[in-house]
This record gives sequence, C-alpha cells and structure tokens, in this order.
Amino acid sequence: MRVIFPGSFHPPTMGHIALIRRAARLFDEVIVAVMHNPKKVGRISPQERVDLLRTCLVQEENVRVLSDDGLLAVLCQNQKADAILRGLRTGLDYEYEEPLAISNRVIGAPETVFLVSDPAYRHISSTIVADIAQHGGPIEGFVPSEILARVRSLYAQ
Ligand code: ADP
Repeated sequence: MRVIFPGSFHPPTMGHIALIRRAARLFDEVIVAVMHNPKKVGRISPQERVDLLRTCLVQEENVRVLSDDGLLAVLCQNQKADAILRGLRTGLDYEYEEPLAISNRVIGAPETVFLVSDPAYRHISSTIVADIAQHGGPIEGFVPSEILARVRSLYAQ
C-alpha cells in the first residue's frame, strides 16, 4: 500500500520525522508531499523544505519526498496513492482533520488514515519551532540534529 503524507513542513520537525519512520514500517511506500499552503507562506521555500526532509530521511528506502502546488486529491491520483496519512497530536488536530478527510473523500481522494503522535513529540508543531527559531531560541529536541544548523540559519536571515 502506498500512502501520501501531505503537509507544510515549515519547518520539518522531530514529530514529522518520527511519524514518517513509523509509517515506513507499516506501508510499502510513503510519499511525503510538501504542499504549498498560501495561508502558511513563510521564509523556507518548498524546495528547501524538500531538501531538509530528504536529509532527515536518507536512510528510509521506501520514503520519497516531493512538492506540489495543486489539489491533494489530484496528486493522489497522479501518484496512484491508496491512502492519505495524517498525524494526530490532540483533539484539536482531530477537529481540524475530520472535515478535511470527509471533504477529500467527497471529491474523490482516497481514505485518510491517522497515526497518533508519539507522546514524546506531541507538543511539537512547526509553528512553535518557527517562533522559537525566529527569536534565536534553542530548537534542539524539536528538529532532527541533521538539519539543526540549516534551520537555524534559515531563520537567522
Ligand atoms: P499542515 O499545514 O498541512 O497541517 P504540518 O506540516 O503542520 O502541515 O503537518 C503535517 C502533518 O504532520 C499533519 O498531519 C500534522 O498533524 C502532523 N504532525 C505535525 N506535527 C506532529 C507531531 N509533533 N507529531 C505527530 N504528527 C505531527
């Protein structure tokens, strides 16, 4: 089974990477899709986010990373994805995800499946990491060590 894990990944965090690694053991192939979210335009370009994710996931043989500026349902069709994967940290995530999953089905996308966040990472969101980094705060423990320096410098600019 091939799943697509879509998101902004602005920036990628330990929460994303832990979830992708778990998914890579459950599914034959995981496609990580950096989606262009106009509501979340920030300082890291989609290509840079793809590069950051690839750096973290280089050892995962059944994980592919790409970016897309279209509709997720169309991307699923083009990539022949069997399911959409999303992560759930709290009830707030569920509230946000439920109408998205239903709407995606209505417009012909495949089923959405959820993995519950590892408790060690459920406090981590890209928004919090970006806030800390923008103010020059410590992001160790929030972002994989392989990309720590790059993420720091992207927010220092
Ligand atoms: P979006 O803007 O589409 O929500 P994000 O990059 O914020 O994109 O998140 C992508 C996916 O990763 C979402 O399903 C989100 O719930 C999940 N996710 C984000 N942070 C974590 C975390 N700490 N643990 C588990 N899943 C997470």
